[in-house]
Amino acid sequence: MRTPAAILEIDLAAIAANYRLLAGRVGGARVAPAVKADAYGLGAARVAPALAAAGATTFCVAQLEEALALRPLLPAARLQVLNGCLPGEERDFVAEDLVPVLNSLEQIALWQAAARAAGRALPAVLHLDTGMSRLGLPPGELALLLAAPERLAGLRLETVMSHLACGDEPGHPLNEAQRARFLAAARHFPGVARSLSASSGIFLGPDWHFEEVRPGYALYGGNPGPGPNPLRPVVTLRARILQVRRVDSPTTVGYGACHRVGGPTRLATLGLGYADGFHRALSNRGRLFLDGVPLPIVGRVSMDLTVVDVTALPEAKAVPGALLDVLGPDQDVDALARDAGTIGYELLTGLGRRYERRYGGA
Ligand SMILES: *Cc1c(COP(=O)(O)O)cnc(C)c1O
Repeated sequence: MRTPAAILEIDLAAIAANYRLLAGRVGGARVAPAVKADAYGLGAARVAPALAAAGATTFCVAQLEEALALRPLLPAARLQVLNGCLPGEERDFVAEDLVPVLNSLEQIALWQAAARAAGRALPAVLHLDTGMSRLGLPPGELALLLAAPERLAGLRLETVMSHLACGDEPGHPLNEAQRARFLAAARHFPGVARSLSASSGIFLGPDWHFEEVRPGYALYGGNPGPGPNPLRPVVTLRARILQVRRVDSPTTVGYGACHRVGGPTRLATLGLGYADGFHRALSNRGRLFLDGVPLPIVGRVSMDLTVVDVTALPEAKAVPGALLDVLGPDQDVDALARDAGTIGYELLTGLGRRYERRYGGA
């Protein structure tokens, strides 16, 4: 038997409920979940089939490897690879029926050559850069493409997409500017589905939904906007107390001796550290909870261990073996990320491999 130092619970029913909530928001638009980065650290092999059971037919991943891992689990799904098809990957894309997002004239040419070699039309998504300057055809490349439409011959263009830079800031002027650029560009591809919004964009309103949306973070319970979170929480993380000590005389805690205990205090040492994706930036900043009682992290978070001040808890509760809430009803991933000076996306995708993972609601 094994006693896990920390337990990560992922509620698949909540993910399915979030999928339905988003699908309800966007009317008839297709919801194409982003399951890249192992479904934001939650386990794509469990999460993607749960989303398929909830109705998803199209999925977005970043890399070929991720699509190949999903293909046996989702034999009929449309798998869109956001980074596109890189030189040398054409064979796998064709063999596994993957849809590359074409981000440049170079990628278009490569995929066209693959279609010629395959002797049939190959599906594709065309990515237009409207303000991210990251991936996608910049306006100059789009102009070249429109001047030479034969560059797309042999390809079955299914979707044109773009990506918002500031979707989580509803008043940001770049949102409207990107929408206008996207609309103008998409007019050159009549009959092709349009996709602009990820999680945040969905909440900008119906003008942002078009024919497809690509949410990731919101499906996993993250808050897509500045207001109250409309999504259901998905992730629970609890860490076990390994040892409790009573400190009566002045002393310091942990590496660097950067926390000094003054008066009588009870300290609990937990089996959770930065090797588990529990950021070192939470040293002397973050909090854990038990029964709603906040328990401050004291001293530095180390690789496998974190110390919290449990003086506020009844002695009978703060005992070795007890589990404290890291992510749960009192603290969601957005709140913990704020204390760590980052965003919930980074916390989720960095969730450690040592947790005992439990999937609920399957
Ligand atoms: C990651 C990603 C998404 C999903 O973004 P969320 O903010 O997690 O909803 C959608 N589209 C593209 C192009 C992405 O890279």
